[in-house]
Amino acid sequence: MKAVSEPVITLKNFFERAREGQLTGIRCTACGEIAIPPKEFCPACGKRAWAPVPLSGEGTIDSFTVIRVAPRSFAGDAPYAIAHVRLVEGPGLLGRVLDVPLDRLSVGLRVTFRPLIASEQTSVGFVPA
Ligand SMILES: [Zn+2]
Repeated sequence: MKAVSEPVITLKNFFERAREGQLTGIRCTACGEIAIPPKEFCPACGKRAWAPVPLSGEGTIDSFTVIRVAPRSFAGDAPYAIAHVRLVEGPGLLGRVLDVPLDRLSVGLRVTFRPLIASEQTSVGFVPA
């Protein structure tokens, strides 16, 4: 069975924009819920009526964990912190915390998005706001 439709913004688009420093969300045009792509259906109302929306990239740390034994490609960076950040627009996402000493990390810390670029790979990073 073929996919019914393409998502409004694919994960590839998301990371292309992230690489340029722009965090992009999707807003449900039916109920206004904002989510992080990709999502098939709105978790709030169950519809599929997304429109892309630029996000400020600002938020606060919800929870975090310190990675001491990293995947091989990041082994040289360990230990480092991965946080779940609640964005001011509502949705949350995981990202690597940069420029914060591990012993200064705390829930509620205000951070802002910064792309983490390693050659062809872009991932989500956060720095102190
Ligand atoms: Zn909705």
